[in-house]
Amino acid sequence: MVESARSAGDRLVWQEARIEALESLSPRIIRVVLRPQAWHLPLAGQHLDVRLTAENGYQAQRSYSLLSPPERDGVYELAIERLADGEVSPWFHDAAQVGESIEVYGPVGGHFVWSATLDRPALLIGGGSGVVPLLSMAAHRAHLHTAAPMVLQVAARTMADVLLWPELQQWEAKANGFRSQLALSRDTATQRTQDHIGRLHHGDLATALQGLGDDSSQAVLVYVCGMNAFVESVVAMLRELRIPDGAIRTERYGG
Ligand SMILES: Cc1cc2nc3c(=O)[nH]c(=O)nc-3n(C[C@H](O)[C@H](O)[C@H](O)COP(=O)(O)OP(=O)(O)OC[C@H]3O[C@@H](n4cnc5c(N)ncnc54)[C@H](O)[C@@H]3O)c2cc1C
Repeated sequence: MVESARSAGDRLVWQEARIEALESLSPRIIRVVLRPQAWHLPLAGQHLDVRLTAENGYQAQRSYSLLSPPERDGVYELAIERLADGEVSPWFHDAAQVGESIEVYGPVGGHFVWSATLDRPALLIGGGSGVVPLLSMAAHRAHLHTAAPMVLQVAARTMADVLLWPELQQWEAKANGFRSQLALSRDTATQRTQDHIGRLHHGDLATALQGLGDDSSQAVLVYVCGMNAFVESVVAMLRELRIPDGAIRTERYGG
């Protein structure tokens, strides 16, 4: 049986996690599979805090959303974008080795989570690596075999930057209430009519809301994740579409 990562008193503790796999997911994003000493069941949308320690004792700590759904027993999967001038993210791309251990704390986060028990249509909007926790939510939904309406709006540079594209197509092929839409800012052509070339715009979100049902603007829960500027601009569009602030949940990656 997998132990709980919580210590006595139900407090999370820092613990070692072994890097079990490193795999390129896109030109800029690497999947990092971590096996912690003690695994705790996450909620879809939660993140891990990660701490690296240099030989001279210098430490750097960052947060990374879980890509894997709760059903991925015993491991945590992260998807880390390389920031060329960054301190921590390039380490995962250039220096990390399978078999070595890093420190992790979590899973943490209580607001930016999705569960079928919410029983509301969900619109998920992710820019760049901000799509990571939303993919965990969509994968969790697929595991549950629920028909809970969900639209995932992805804002990416090109088709090659769209994470888990095969999975997105599989989930959509089930035709049980899941739909994805792509806005590709730097590509030249799209294969599907629901996708378009250019930056995410107001019309994308209006279409997504329509896809969730005509009266969904009152009941829909919206999750927005990405860099600060992306989140700000999407929230402004949602307000124009009369989505109440209380129905909007945001996760900001900085930048
Ligand atoms: C809750 C949470 C979840 C996160 N989940 C993920 C995730 O799933 N995948 C992921 O790749 N990142 C994620 N991040 C961002 C991550 O924590 C780091 O901020 C990011 O990896 C940069 O760290 P760094 O040490 O490489 O760069 P730093 O040395 O911290 O920063 C280098 C430069 O990049 C700028 N910068 C910081 N963050 C960004 C950004 N996101 N995009 C562009 N420029 C930036 C900084 O302002 C600085 O100028 C998450 C952040 C939070 C708060």
